[in-house]
This record gives sequence, structure tokens and C-alpha cells, in this order.
Amino acid sequence: MPEDINKKFKTLQKTVKQYHPKADFDLLKLAFDFALEAHKGSKRMSGEDYVYHPLATAQTLAEMKMSLPIVIAGLLHDVPEDTNFTLDDIKKNFGNDIASLVNGVTKLGTIKYRGIERYIENLRKMFLAIAKDLRVILIKFADRLHNLKTLYALPRNKQIRIASEVLEIYAPIANRLGMYEMKGQLEAEAFKYLYPKEYNWLKQLIEEQSKRKEKYLNKVIAFLKKQLQEENVDFIEVKGRIKQLYSLYKKLLRHDKDINRVYDFIAIRIIVKDIADCYSVLGIIHKIMKPLKGRIKDYISQPKPNGYSSLHTTVFTPDGEIIEVQIRTEEMEEEAEYGIAAHWYYDEKGSFKKHRQTKWIDELTEWQKELSANQKFLEKLKIDVFQDRIFVFTPNGDVIDLPAGATPVDFAYSVHTDVGNQCVGVLINNQIATLDKKLKSGDVVQVLTDKNRKFPNADWLKFVKTSIAKNKIKSSLSKRTLIDKFLKK
Ligand code: MN
Repeated sequence: MPEDINKKFKTLQKTVKQYHPKADFDLLKLAFDFALEAHKGSKRMSGEDYVYHPLATAQTLAEMKMSLPIVIAGLLHDVPEDTNFTLDDIKKNFGNDIASLVNGVTKLGTIKYRGIERYIENLRKMFLAIAKDLRVILIKFADRLHNLKTLYALPRNKQIRIASEVLEIYAPIANRLGMYEMKGQLEAEAFKYLYPKEYNWLKQLIEEQSKRKEKYLNKVIAFLKKQLQEENVDFIEVKGRIKQLYSLYKKLLRHDKDINRVYDFIAIRIIVKDIADCYSVLGIIHKIMKPLKGRIKDYISQPKPNGYSSLHTTVFTPDGEIIEVQIRTEEMEEEAEYGIAAHWYYDEKGSFKKHRQTKWIDELTEWQKELSANQKFLEKLKIDVFQDRIFVFTPNGDVIDLPAGATPVDFAYSVHTDVGNQCVGVLINNQIATLDKKLKSGDVVQVLTDKNRKFPNADWLKFVKTSIAKNKIKSSLSKRTLIDKFLKK
């Protein structure tokens, strides 16, 4: 056995030890030996011994601080499919829980992207797998991430298929589960294979820009730290962060590829102790730096549907540069990175960490209960599970989930407030439709907007379904009333 394999396993042990010192390390070693034996003699397309792949998968999961059964299932995830050992062997050695995780990953392996017509079916399978055991998805993400990293060894057609699956299926689901870090990594790797030219262009652009901005950023960070200290506000960290590669690319496409128009390309992130401090910091920043209109976002009082919370503001620095500042607590930072995965996260003391659940997760947990009460039912289960939710698509394939009965106006507001306010018409599956038309799962919805339109139509309140649309329409209309009153005087 190459020495290197042992070294990788040592690293894995060390990583687990850091967040979970009381883990059953004998069981972890057993899993490693088992995987080593099972995959003995087989190679990856890259020419490496196969076992590097499950090791890398487990390492990713350990870096996400996942509980031991998840890490072990990561080590064993390809055993039943690719070796002479069976799921029963895993059950005998590692118990039912780990065996069922491995089984779930094996089953998910059959999901393949075959273009838009199979898209819904794939998504459905994926969601069902989530509803059955969310941990399976986490393992599948780690598995896919390593497959992407070794994609260079595969023929071009396979590269394209695997990378498309990631952009069309995995990344939207990671996003839905609030796993931004995972989503960003998956997208960046897939992007590289699907759009190699654009990827290289962007890589270079980022390098040039960060070099140019680094010094300036450090100056602003030092300035901010000093101001916060003077105001006696405790902070844990003030740092710079670069926008995720693929989201940056998509944003650039909307701004004529002009990086100077993407204000959150580099943002400053301030981590503080509690929510009260978040707002104090925001106040101090606005006192010393003028905020840009319409760019203050309070995701603490109104978190995104996937649970994302943070305060965002874009400000003019004293010398006139524009920069985005994000303010959040440590817990919000953790959740933004790991999302749903934070539920299987161990803190340093090795105790299970309780995190606030998003509504979406509550729903899934409910389904999960219903499903496990009747396993047979699961076989026959169709999209009905999601009967009170529909999944519709933006023209570039992003999935938006809405309550059943939602209309194009609900869709518009869930994409962006401005899209809602400026909405004048809609194409559903390329056909003109009315704004009160009830959407169906699988519809591709394209909202037509008029940039000059400032306010929504009050009649929309009669048919919109989501509270997000209702609230935004009402608040925009009240602004108009206020302006009208003011102009009359
Ligand atoms: Mn695998």
C-alpha cells in the first residue's frame, strides 16, 4: 500500500479528533481497513488507487465536522456498488444506521441529468432521498465534489454530463439547504468544465482585481476596527471575502461583464457576538460611511427562505470607493457556510449542537416521519409528496419553490423585489400568460419587466399567494402613498 494512503487516513483521524475527540476511532479504523480491502486492486480513471476517492469524500465530511456515522458512510459509500462486498457485510460490521446511509448514497447514484425533460424527475428523486434521510445528501455532495476534482481524467462527454448535473441538480439543492460553501465549491468546479474559456477569464480577472484591491481592503478593515473600538463595540473578526466564482460570473453577465459594477465582488464581513451588536455595528458604519440607497438588507429580521441571516449594506468609503459590508454573529456565519449540515455538526466539546431549523427543514422532517411510518408507501410515492409546494424554473434553470396556487407575481417577488415591482407581463413556457395564472410544477417562468415602473398594482393583492409578495406589494404601495401625500403639500 502506498505510504500516501496511510498519511491521508492519519489526516482524517486528526480532523475528526479536532471536533469530536471522543469519537469511536476503532470503528473509523475498521472502516478504513474495510474500504482498503474492498477496493484493493481497483483504480480510478485518473490512475490512482480507488480508495483515494472514498478517503477524500470522508475528509470533506470531516472538514464539515459531520458526525462519525456520516464520515464512516463516506469511507464506505462505493463498496456495495463497485466491489465484491455487499451491503449486508457493511450491516454486519458497522450496523444498520451506517448501512442505510451507504444504501441511500448507492440509490442516489442512479440520478443522472438527461436534459430538461428528465429534470423534474431527477429533482423529485433527489428531494425524496432528502426527505428520507438528509444525511445521504451530504455524503453525495462530498462524493460529487471529489468526482469533479478528478474530472480531468474522464472523456469530454462525461465531463459535460457530470458538470451539468452539478449545475442543474446538486447546486440548486445545496442552495435550497443553505449550504453556500458546498454550493460554491460545486459550482466553481462544474463551471470550469462547462465554460472553460469564461472560467479562465474570470480566474484571471479575480486575481488582478484582488491584487489591486487587497491593500485597499486592508486599509478599510483597519479603519473599521479602529472605529468599532472607539465606539466600544466588541467584534470577533473583521475580514474580507471574495464572492463565489460562479455567482460572480452570473452577476457579471447581468452587468455587461463589468467588474466595477459588481459592488459585492469583494465584501467586508464583520463577525460579532450577538444580534444587538449586529445592529450597533450597522449604525456605526452608517454614521461614518454613507450607505447606497436600496442596498441595506436586513436578513436578520427577515431571513431568506433557506434560513440565511445577516445584515448587508453597501457604503461609500471616505475616499469614495463603494464596498459591501456584511454583519453577522458567529452562529449565522456557521449556518451560512454549512446550512442544513449544521444539524449534524459537533462542537469542540463533542456535544451535539442544536441549531435553529428553517421552516423548510421542519416540513421535510414531517414528511420523513410520515414516510418512515409506511415504507411501502415510499415506493409508490410520486410528486404528490410535494402537493402543497410547486417547483418552477427561471429561464436559466434555477429552481424556485412556491406554495401551490402561486402566480407569476409570487414568482417575481421571490426572485427579487425589483422584479416584482417592475413586473408588467409574463411568459410561461414561452407563452404569454396573465399575471394571475396559477403556476404548475415544471413551468419555466420568465417575468417581463419595465424598468420605469416604480410601483406594483394594488389589484395583485387579490390573487398573490405568498406572504413575501403580499408584504412587498403593501410596503411599496405605502411608500407611494407617502410620496403622494408629500407631493400634495
Ligand atoms: Mn463515489
